[in-house]
Amino acid sequence: MSLSYVNPSVDSPWGTYLSQVDRVIPYLGPLARWAETLKRPKRALIVDIPIEMDDGSVRHFDGFRVQHNLSRGPGKGGVRYHPDVTLEEVMALAAWMTVKNAAVNLPYGGAKGGIRVDPKQLSQKELEKLTRRYTSEIGLIIGPQQDIPAPDVNTNAQIMAWMMDTYSMNVGATATGVVTGKPIHLGGSLGRVKATGRGVFVTGREAARRIGLNLDGVRVAVQGFGNVGSAAAELFVGAGAKLVAVQDHTGSIANPNGIDMAGLMETLRSEGGVGGFRNAEHLDDESFWDVDCDILIPAALEGQLTADRARRTKAKLVLEGANGPTLSSADDILHDRGVLVVPDVICNAGGVTVSYFEWVQDFSSFFWSEDEINVRLDKIMVDALKKIWDTSERHQISLRTATFAVACERILMARQERGLYP
Ligand code: GLU
Repeated sequence: MSLSYVNPSVDSPWGTYLSQVDRVIPYLGPLARWAETLKRPKRALIVDIPIEMDDGSVRHFDGFRVQHNLSRGPGKGGVRYHPDVTLEEVMALAAWMTVKNAAVNLPYGGAKGGIRVDPKQLSQKELEKLTRRYTSEIGLIIGPQQDIPAPDVNTNAQIMAWMMDTYSMNVGATATGVVTGKPIHLGGSLGRVKATGRGVFVTGREAARRIGLNLDGVRVAVQGFGNVGSAAAELFVGAGAKLVAVQDHTGSIANPNGIDMAGLMETLRSEGGVGGFRNAEHLDDESFWDVDCDILIPAALEGQLTADRARRTKAKLVLEGANGPTLSSADDILHDRGVLVVPDVICNAGGVTVSYFEWVQDFSSFFWSEDEINVRLDKIMVDALKKIWDTSERHQISLRTATFAVACERILMARQERGLYP
């Protein structure tokens, strides 16, 4: 049985997700009876977002919110603003949230949203109108107990503040728990901004230790230098690693002796990208994948690690900061070449874990210190990775399939215990 309303190619995000599900089915035992649940979203909402532009014209944007699975709790997952967003992509991102949330045992299902827009082309006022109208339109299905959005690619704390305000205005009461990733004084959590990068570092540190890779002097290459990639890079450099290459939408740079982190962050702040950084060699974008490195962190968009790039990379360890960066064909090549991949659904789960802390703090109106948050985050990530590592050794399967095995057992157990309605 396959969905009648999408026609995914193997290398599309939804096609990639489906092949990941197929790989875990043999390890689900009797729960495999429920596996079809994973192959279709529970609910998908498509909305029209008309806004009046600053020049007086009216433009329409396509918006989506997909709730992939709600068996273990409310939907949870970010909202992405990008010109390439499609329903099918949001479906895959929502499904990966279901798996991710279950992999770290958060009491959530999985959801994701997106608007097909290039936010860099909009003024602040237009961006606010877009966000408010989108929030109103998806207001039918979101809420602190229904589905809780958060930041993702090109969205941030300001956008979450507008979403929280719009939802609160519509329901007639301030509802801080409707979104996470908010500004601190609106019920946001300390540590949330850097949490995804921190989780990448923690899982990377644990995986490196287990394969005997010393972080002191280890060479790291990072693709995507937004919230996730830059925070992870800072933590690795702080632990003694050398940042040898970085690529973002403005260019690719390399320095085998280690890029100066403070200088790079300065360039990022002043120019909005790494492309103009002076103290490094400038590479053409494809050569980034050939750079001599030990750890590769894809922290940009889906489908970046293709079969060809998987054959060429020198890395021994791949840490998936992005969602869905590795094609299934590339996964097999990396596995055959002995390159260890810490998959997105555990590697970048630090963000949603601190989102969970934020949501809990909002409900109890009691806020934790940053130290408390980082210590709890560290423990959740280390424990989750340990369980996944043991599962991978027991069945002799990749960390990705092991993460799916741990997560899908939790999801489908909940599905089975709740039973079918009616
Ligand atoms: N967008 C992030 C992710 O892909 C965080 C989602 C959240 O905090 O709900 O995991």
